[in-house]
Amino acid sequence: MTCDYTALAAPGVRELMPYKPGKPIDELERELGISDSIKLASNENPLGTSPAAMAAIRDEIDDLWLYPDATGYGLKATLAERHDIDAARITLGNGSNDVLVLLAEAFLTPGANAVYSKYCFAVYPIATQATGARARVAPALAEDHERAPLGHDLAAMGELVDTDTRLVFIANPNNPTGTWLGQAELRAFIEGVPEQTLVVVDEAYTEYTGGLDCPDASRWLDEFPNLVVTRTFSKAYGLAGLRVGYALSNPQVSDLLNRIRQPFNVNSLGLVAARAALGDTEFIERSQRINREGLESLGESLSALGFRVLPSAANFVLVDCKQPASPWYEALLRKGVIVRGVENYDLPNHMRVTVGTPEQNRRLIDTLAELQQMGLDG
Ligand SMILES: *Cc1c(COP(=O)(O)O)cnc(C)c1O
Repeated sequence: MTCDYTALAAPGVRELMPYKPGKPIDELERELGISDSIKLASNENPLGTSPAAMAAIRDEIDDLWLYPDATGYGLKATLAERHDIDAARITLGNGSNDVLVLLAEAFLTPGANAVYSKYCFAVYPIATQATGARARVAPALAEDHERAPLGHDLAAMGELVDTDTRLVFIANPNNPTGTWLGQAELRAFIEGVPEQTLVVVDEAYTEYTGGLDCPDASRWLDEFPNLVVTRTFSKAYGLAGLRVGYALSNPQVSDLLNRIRQPFNVNSLGLVAARAALGDTEFIERSQRINREGLESLGESLSALGFRVLPSAANFVLVDCKQPASPWYEALLRKGVIVRGVENYDLPNHMRVTVGTPEQNRRLIDTLAELQQMGLDG
């Protein structure tokens, strides 16, 4: 090649670090020639997919030769009812990742900036940098902060908002830390942000926050025209493979997002599956229960093994190994247990573990205990 295509790329794109996904089970088994591995690395639902969604997919599968409904009418109608909101305020996405990128495309330019926290979801920096906008990264709360170690420091974030700030990204609860913001502090923050700055509250894990002071910001949409709330079907609804998410916003913002989104960004199976999953209360409740119990038992067992477990309102925990985590991560892989290394988040001593079924959690704990006995920690 005589031509340097990297040099020709948009400046923001040249410097991008690609998103690092959890290792797929197939890949690990192919590499090591093992079977029977488990994946606790991508915050997927260990119960699989809602049976109601599976039935809807089977019903729809004969019609795959047809384009999906570009307006997503049925799913939006169900969501509008669920959130008691006009359907014109909903933007459907190919996962919520898609709507996060649409927001960046619609509002960020090289002269603008986006504000987010140091240990935020990796998609915010990627979406921001690709537009050429500047990232203003707020320092996180201290590692020994009692309620939200490494979590969002809203005061620090607020200080970074200036007249060129078009977007503030907040995940609540946050990934990869699992930490969350309470109702009063988040509300006060949004109240203090000027109207020309959109506050994007990413609620990918909201279904898991029951019983905690972790607000459903979608209830504030009528009060704050600059509020955008994103949701996903990838986590509690068990549809990560189908890619469905959405944004709730004021109608002008959703009109803009709907102009730039690909007309068929949500496929026909995703549309029907998401709608059915919303109605499967039994599945969601079961998912919540198994997660609550799993969080508790993982927290206890990991602490008993000497790891520090950060508080979590989601379906995963961030585990502090108090030393480089990669030997643990690598040793677990060889035993067929996939967790998530978070070096890419600048957290080399931590690993992120998704709450699994009781059997999967037990296998993780037993494997870690076995590795410790083999002397991994000394
Ligand atoms: C998993 C996750 C999402 C969801 O991504 P999808 O594209 O909907 O699968 C969004 N935000 C955060 C913080 C997440 O952890």
